[in-house]
Amino acid sequence: MAVPRTYHLVTLGCPKNDVDSEHLERLLVGGELLPVLQPETADAIIVNTCGFIEQSQEQSMAAVRALAAGKRDGQTLIVAGCMTQLYAGEVRAEAPGIDHVFGVGQWQEVARLLSVDVDAVYDIPEHNAKVTGPSAYLKISDGCDAPCTFCVIPRIKGGLRSAPLGLLVKEARRLVAAGAKELVLVGQDTTAWGEDLGMPVASGLPGLLRALSEAVGPDTWLRLMYAYPSRVTPALIETMAALPNVVHYLDVPLQHGSEAVLRRMKRPHNVERVHAFVRELRAAMPDVVLRTSFIAGFPGETEAEFDELMAFAKATRFDHAGCFTYSLQQWTGAYEMPGQVPDEVKQDRRDRFMRQQQRISAKQATRFVGKTLPMLVEGIGDAEGQPVVAGRTYREAPEVDGLVFAEGQAQPGDRVLVRIEESGEYDLFGSLVPG
Ligand code: SF4
Repeated sequence: MAVPRTYHLVTLGCPKNDVDSEHLERLLVGGELLPVLQPETADAIIVNTCGFIEQSQEQSMAAVRALAAGKRDGQTLIVAGCMTQLYAGEVRAEAPGIDHVFGVGQWQEVARLLSVDVDAVYDIPEHNAKVTGPSAYLKISDGCDAPCTFCVIPRIKGGLRSAPLGLLVKEARRLVAAGAKELVLVGQDTTAWGEDLGMPVASGLPGLLRALSEAVGPDTWLRLMYAYPSRVTPALIETMAALPNVVHYLDVPLQHGSEAVLRRMKRPHNVERVHAFVRELRAAMPDVVLRTSFIAGFPGETEAEFDELMAFAKATRFDHAGCFTYSLQQWTGAYEMPGQVPDEVKQDRRDRFMRQQQRISAKQATRFVGKTLPMLVEGIGDAEGQPVVAGRTYREAPEVDGLVFAEGQAQPGDRVLVRIEESGEYDLFGSLVPG
């Protein structure tokens, strides 16, 4: 293989994959490889795959097949990430044009394969300046020790590995120096941070938030995603409420609202406990915005259990909630469970859930009308000749929640004030406040 000078990187899946790809790109750019937009012009094509559920596996496979089919002589096709961690042999067999396969966490090996002297470039700061837009993800841990019976991530990523505090503070400062106005904290379970470093259960994150809050300064937002329900503690709630730059927003995937189903999922099943921390969050931060996600059609789910989920979602009134159909996944506890639910029933339940949630989200959004909020601008455009901007307030996490559209002029990356005049099911509408 001639020494490659250009690469084209395709990243699929979740924000944690985005962070891994960014890490790989820092190594490649450090090794003086140039990124190119078109796969056909690259010396090396790299795919960072997702293997979480069947749907994402199919998307990954489709992308790999297309790139393999379009590969020209002399090009190198590398496939890595979660899908190949699980199914390296099957992926190779399905796309013969693949040259190299890697699993997860092997980014240095990929870079070495492309003739990068990894040890020489690993930590050179100027190779790190890559923040596109006002936000950046900060991956605080990887892997997971939880026993959820529908989830294959522990098999893909292994057990919990928290990034050391010093490294996270340094990375946070680097991202802010590179232009980030918001850091979105991600991991499989962010609330478990530090438990593998000897910290008592659920006690590490409040301390990490305090250290990051001080390191990035009062103007940089810190947003918490992927909290685990039984680790949403009074200490965490207090810390979120006390720190000026931790936005009053929490993403806490709950997966179901029926205790019986939660038991079969091997998830925290004390539903009253969930109601309690939701009350505590709202008492400590009356403007708090809550996001969650559920699974419809878990093996054995009866209509009555689904009704419990609907009633639970109605009672808790999450601002944002997603619902996925259960995905049969090899190597998980639920794979051979009896009572697998037919696809059309799963889909029908998911659709019924989303129709109800649309009404709840729309109602929750009305409480923002009349408010003036800081907003991060992500895009600009015009409507009937009037300049408009699109972006997010503390109410919207990147890529998963709605947007705010506002009349006025600003630039991507700007932090501005917006007066909310109208609300939709997911989006808010208003005008920029001249400042
Ligand atoms: S906590 Fe999340 S990542 Fe961990 S096993 Fe459960 S669903 Fe999977």
